[in-house]
Amino acid sequence: MKYCPNCASVLTIKIPVDDSRERYVCEACGSIHYQNPRNVVGSIPVYGHQVLLCRRAIEPRHGYWTLPAGFMELGESTSHGAARETLEEAGAHVEIGQLYSLLNVPHAEQVHLFYLATMHSADFSAGEESLEVALFDEQEIPWGELAFPTVKQTLEWFFADRAAGLLDSGNELSVRSRDVLPSERI
Ligand code: ZN
Repeated sequence: MKYCPNCASVLTIKIPVDDSRERYVCEACGSIHYQNPRNVVGSIPVYGHQVLLCRRAIEPRHGYWTLPAGFMELGESTSHGAARETLEEAGAHVEIGQLYSLLNVPHAEQVHLFYLATMHSADFSAGEESLEVALFDEQEIPWGELAFPTVKQTLEWFFADRAAGLLDSGNELSVRSRDVLPSERI
């Protein structure tokens, strides 16, 4: 950030009074421009025993497979964002269930949240940001071609929990969470 979004003056970086971190400060109009992490919200769309994945048509990680997910928009909840992204990227209407995983990605200045989601039909289609969309059995998951560590970790947790019967209805499920390190690669 170089110029003030309010008045277009050149910004300076300093610690404001009563603060403990450096911020972008406008000496001309007095505004302080805070920068904070962004939420990436997505779903684990399940149809029967299969999971729906999208192959990315955009960078980063063009051509790699991901769970449908994207940046949360202003004015929506995380679960609404997850349903919206699933419809936009995978053309699938899902019934959003409970929050399943929360992954901090400090080096990317992001927090990733994935919801369990049920597909009531096998209707889906590739949206603008997807090359293709497909349902996968667990044995068919393209583990070596996944786009992001958060997607890989969420799928690993999901299949392990499902095998252990923890995803059966009626079970109280706690949110799976951890921090992703910069060194993590698919
Ligand atoms: Zn200003």
